[in-house]
Amino acid sequence: MRHAVAASLFLIGAFTAAPHAQTIYPIDRAEFLAGSRFDFKVEFPDAPKPEAVKVTINGKSVDAVFGKPTTFLEAEEGQKHSALWARGVALPPGRYLVEATQGNARKSVVWEVYGTQRRPRAKNVILFIGDGMSVGHRTAARVIAKNWREGKYDGDLAMDDMPHMALISTSGSDSIVTDSANSASAYATGHKSCNAALGVYCAKNALNLDHPKVETIGELIRRRTKKSLGVVTNTEIVDATPASIIAHTRHRRDYNAIATMFEAVRPDVIMGGGKPHFKPKGEGSKRTDDLDLIGKFRDVGYTYVETKTAMLEAAASGKTKLLGLFNDSNIDGAFDLRLAKKGTVSKFPDQPDVPSQTRAALKMLSKNPHGFFLMVESGRIDKYSHSLDWERAVFDTIMLDNAVQVAKDFAAGRNDTLIIVVPDHTHAVSLVGTYDDARPGQLPRDRLGPYDLSLPPNYGPRDAEGYPTDMDTSRRLAVIFGTFPDTCDIARPYMDGERVPAVKGPDGKTMVANEKDCARPGAVRKAGNLPFGMPQGVHAADDGILTAMGPGAERFRGRKDNTFVFRVMAEVLALGGR
Ligand SMILES: [Zn+2]
Repeated sequence: MRHAVAASLFLIGAFTAAPHAQTIYPIDRAEFLAGSRFDFKVEFPDAPKPEAVKVTINGKSVDAVFGKPTTFLEAEEGQKHSALWARGVALPPGRYLVEATQGNARKSVVWEVYGTQRRPRAKNVILFIGDGMSVGHRTAARVIAKNWREGKYDGDLAMDDMPHMALISTSGSDSIVTDSANSASAYATGHKSCNAALGVYCAKNALNLDHPKVETIGELIRRRTKKSLGVVTNTEIVDATPASIIAHTRHRRDYNAIATMFEAVRPDVIMGGGKPHFKPKGEGSKRTDDLDLIGKFRDVGYTYVETKTAMLEAAASGKTKLLGLFNDSNIDGAFDLRLAKKGTVSKFPDQPDVPSQTRAALKMLSKNPHGFFLMVESGRIDKYSHSLDWERAVFDTIMLDNAVQVAKDFAAGRNDTLIIVVPDHTHAVSLVGTYDDARPGQLPRDRLGPYDLSLPPNYGPRDAEGYPTDMDTSRRLAVIFGTFPDTCDIARPYMDGERVPAVKGPDGKTMVANEKDCARPGAVRKAGNLPFGMPQGVHAADDGILTAMGPGAERFRGRKDNTFVFRVMAEVLALGGR
């Protein structure tokens, strides 16, 4: 009996950290790039004095290993811990055992620091991130854009027609289900971190900007290569995914600080929404200081544009440095730009879509004889999936695919460009059949045809880019979400604007179904399966699909952690090879 108790305690211990252990950053099992900079930090509970603790790396003193003195902060920031810091350090390739001793308590972590070849294998890397893109989105996009008949498609998506594929696991260091900051940061730094963090580990520091930093691929490109750098998105440029390329903060919501960080790193091409974070405080600004970031970019030779027309002009006239801010918030998605014309389309009538941004970015970046790194995000696949508006999410999947085709056309015949297409995480979304209005009954479930009744949809004719010209037809795909608040489902596209699945209830906390939707014909009321305060669908931990082509793409196979994407990019660009 005693043995059984001891065994079960041991098992519990395997899954929970001891409450008062030293914490070491980077964390255990970190694999990171030789020569990339990071902040080393050890936190000791109960605020010990420096003589009460000891830290070694492979048995040597920390100062000796890093070649610079460490700093010890007793009761750091007045908190109940002490901290040992070595900021901005780097290591050569090798395996490192870090041991921190405090009295009888000993904690250790192991790092693998990997080098790269000296010679780059690729001149250019283009990383496409379909934010939240899941297998369900991809499949629905293929049915819609490539035509399904008699069990086959008339064509492949550009992102499917790639020779290499891997499953990518996206969890953060603190939780199984990630957010977009943490997961994009894994691609951008090669380190796993916690929810909401960008380019930092999540230590005990009080201020978001004080946490231990790790170098981003944007900074590495700047510091170690002569390549150009591009960051392109249709979300706000300060949103998590684009920010991950350059930013360091414990919280992704530090939008104004992130805008300032963009100016510090200065990617050559920057395109997205989020204009108010770049203007000095006053009308049309969300800044609380007088910093005129648009002016600062202009002062160092950037062309600043706010419309698609001006973007195309800048690209056509041979410009190589561009700041494009096309919307106060996110750029409207393809469903609104083309079909519904809702969202902010009337306020911003001349916005680019992601393929046109990609084409312009490639034109400018490829002028650099040393090559470039470009991250392109189709960011609203995720946002529309949160709002359970699958038609908008899938239109933006088709839009991403058209942008991938632009990159494939660029790379064709040159064999010097690695193209990667990957989500940062997934949603619980699946294609399960079709709704057919010819079936008897009014409710979505009356009209749902699964299995042999899932006949192909009769959407309007496709335009040249594969988007149907009518989605609100009598036979439509049934794409369903696995997580939702209390909501009313109409099983048709929301032609009058993005779906709002739930609104705040009378207590100001509990989310309730949006009665506007409940009043629509055929609406069905669904009891939510999420915590009561959550207004929208949530991310899934399901693995994402990565496809890739070009030099180094063969490294992607089997199942990999998201940090491996950084590793392959660093390898092909030889970022650790000097
Ligand atoms: Zn999301």
